[in-house]
Amino acid sequence: MILIVEDEPKLAALEADYLKAEGFETHTIADGREVVPWVRAQAPDLILLDLMLPGRDGLDVCRDLRTFSDVPVIMVTAKVEEIDRLIGLDLGADDYVCKPFSVRELVARVRAILRRRRTPSTALVLDEERHVAELDGRALDLTPVEFRLLRALASAPGRVFARERLLERLYEDHRVVTDRTVDAHVKNLRRKLEEVRPGEELVRSIYGVGYTLEL
Ligand code: CA
Repeated sequence: MILIVEDEPKLAALEADYLKAEGFETHTIADGREVVPWVRAQAPDLILLDLMLPGRDGLDVCRDLRTFSDVPVIMVTAKVEEIDRLIGLDLGADDYVCKPFSVRELVARVRAILRRRRTPSTALVLDEERHVAELDGRALDLTPVEFRLLRALASAPGRVFARERLLERLYEDHRVVTDRTVDAHVKNLRRKLEEVRPGEELVRSIYGVGYTLEL
């Protein structure tokens, strides 16, 4: 079941039509206040969540959802500039799309997220106690900081993590470091991942504000 939270009736109907044509069941809600109670009762597989909603905005709804649910959320916004800000807020959304979008593309993203959720990758193994990471059965020679970076990204493959949020997870002593530090560690981590999977970009930059792990 896909929950469509959208207050533009035409767009909601279009999304529902495309998803149904692909074999998904859908339910549509137009009022932001109705989302959390419905999700608690019905546990949908994925939520398309519009940002601007009557009653309660999508930002607020998403924060609330994350207090009790790990359901995949695709946030839908009307302004492309907003995406950077939303990623920075670390709402825990899995993907972001900007209106107007191709519904076909949206359905493809829905499929991709559900596929990742249903078949968690066994290619990457993180041994928390020993701080050892393996990709495709090969040990990665990671520094403690790189291990924590990979662990943070791997906690939700495909989800976009803002640099600032990653920074918070890198150093246990909460020392002050800059965004560039994250970039440097990502660069090293990428190099080590690429030794195992040449030519693949497993850690992808998103809109220049964050990173996502794609396995
Ligand atoms: Ca709206």
